[in-house]
Amino acid sequence: MSEKGNISIHTENIFPIIKKFLYSDHEIFLRELVSNAVDASQKLKQLSGMGEFGGELGDMTVEVSFDEKAKTITISDRGIGMTAEDIKKYINQIAFSGATEFVEKYKDKGDEQQIIGHFGLGFYSAFMVADQVEIQSLSHVDGSEPAHWICDGSTEFEIKAGTRTERGTDIILHINEESEEFLNQARLQGILTKYCKFLPVEIKFGQKDESQPDGEDEEGKPKYKQVKVDNIVNNPSPIWTKSPSDLSDDDYLKFYKELYPFSEEPLFWIHLNVDYPFNLTGILYFPKVKNDIEMQKNKIQLYSRQVFITDEVKDVVPEFLMLLHGVIDSPDIPLNVSRSFLQADGNVKKINTYITKKVADKLNELYKKDREQFESKWPDVGLFVKYGMLSDEKFYDKAKDFALLENVDGQFFTFNEYKEKVEALQKDKDDNLVYLYATEPAKQHAFIESIKNKSYDILKLDGPLDTHFIGTLEHKLEKTQLKRVDAETVDKLIDKGETQESVLSDDEKTKAKEIFEKAINDKNSTVNVESLASDEMPVIVTMPEFMRRMKDMQRQGGGGMMMMGDMPDQYSVSVNANHPLISKVLNADSDEIKERLARQSYDLALLSQGLLEGSALTDFIKRTVDISAN
Ligand code: ADP
Repeated sequence: MSEKGNISIHTENIFPIIKKFLYSDHEIFLRELVSNAVDASQKLKQLSGMGEFGGELGDMTVEVSFDEKAKTITISDRGIGMTAEDIKKYINQIAFSGATEFVEKYKDKGDEQQIIGHFGLGFYSAFMVADQVEIQSLSHVDGSEPAHWICDGSTEFEIKAGTRTERGTDIILHINEESEEFLNQARLQGILTKYCKFLPVEIKFGQKDESQPDGEDEEGKPKYKQVKVDNIVNNPSPIWTKSPSDLSDDDYLKFYKELYPFSEEPLFWIHLNVDYPFNLTGILYFPKVKNDIEMQKNKIQLYSRQVFITDEVKDVVPEFLMLLHGVIDSPDIPLNVSRSFLQADGNVKKINTYITKKVADKLNELYKKDREQFESKWPDVGLFVKYGMLSDEKFYDKAKDFALLENVDGQFFTFNEYKEKVEALQKDKDDNLVYLYATEPAKQHAFIESIKNKSYDILKLDGPLDTHFIGTLEHKLEKTQLKRVDAETVDKLIDKGETQESVLSDDEKTKAKEIFEKAINDKNSTVNVESLASDEMPVIVTMPEFMRRMKDMQRQGGGGMMMMGDMPDQYSVSVNANHPLISKVLNADSDEIKERLARQSYDLALLSQGLLEGSALTDFIKRTVDISAN
């Protein structure tokens, strides 16, 4: 009593179309079929829980196996099962209409990304890798007859009495020639690990033991039920599904290791859990950030009811939190729509806002609970916080109370604390507050020393985002400027409008300028003779703040500054009129000695900033040796 029939859909044969579209993503067939098996098992558990199924649940493990000789992959469950009628309804009508809808939606688009992000092609995806698919099923409903359905992916199917004796469903895929790569232990294991690692029902995987047939099918062909190598491939109750109060730090750290076996311990984590106005659970870890930021991206895994979807969470997680690790599980994220739609989606926006708020709250809590520990983690955490403050106004508003500024002596201050600290001394004549900062304290040591002599404070802003962060601070903080320690000579960094007496006459200043210009002989440097304190260096080389920032931006690929590409670095050379060495230069016996001394003091300035190199460095060393030997 076999029945043949036609599946009633309008597209004659959608198989070739689907196959073409999903070319690069064939492996998801396994995700779809295993999730169906898991769903069928969950449904039965639910029915049992509600008292609507009276039988024994028994072992509910879903089994995935393959048979290299027979070229089959089988997915077996002990879930609700299907009668012949069910199959007609759920597979012939629902599964096929789902596939038709899918094709209708995507056939004109040809955008790989959209399709790869698609979820819910469902049962039909089996035909991407199989030229024939069989279902052997026995419904959980008492007195049901087993059913056997066979289909080659066209709209024709055959349905007859089946052989399954136990409740549940076998999906048997007869793998097509192009897809034989899937008849491989490592390949299948890899796919299962990727997509099914946290499915909520245990999944066993193995190869059929061909040496021991343990039954025959209805045509008398041997059947291999025994699985040779088998192991459970998933963790059915990952910790994000549990309540935070039932979890210890150790549980979170263990789970982190499970996700990223080769990573260092995370700094801390946030357990996400919302059920209104959208559903979302997950755990986000703050990793120790390494230098290569790009390498750290795409580490968050997106799940929908414990089924892995993607690790490209670009639009779901705020850009600045892309460096976090962990999992997000939400059935409310629309996964079958295009990226531009995703960005505009109301739920996705809410999720973004929620995650941002959670992260800010957690950081605030850590800051309040244990300031010392927070400070110790700041070098890593600061990067996220700064990134967030740069890119998200709302986050800035929350973070400005716990974000820290570190000075070159390793002390930490909140924005308010820092303002209070420097307010008294670091205001210029126009009442602007000036924050001084070093980007390379070791290299900028000479400047730092002379600034410290004035009892000013110096921030350390040496991180990869600090160039931008400085701009944000200036924009946000009232009447505040930031200047790098070597932007000007110390008196001008914070211009108090005071002038120093000059030891040199105007005539002597002009002479000194000429001597130095000749000695330096570089059209990109401007020489100025200035009255600085006598304990300042005889020569100081600086680069104006705006010029250096433009250079920095350009180096980091900032737009609109292409014309600066070949512009040489322009330095200001300040010759200290009040330094005894300059008087010595002016009073030297011959022009040659004057020039030599001038060059020597200029080179010393370059040397103190690590700017002396190449032949200039060699000349300097030779000259110094000469001077020392004579
Ligand atoms: P979806 O799972 O999105 O509903 P599918 O095309 O994957 O779409 O499956 C269609 C329907 O077929 C399912 O909703 C379910 O009712 C039924 N089905 C599929 N696989 C099984 C299975 N292993 N056991 C019981 N029913 C199944």
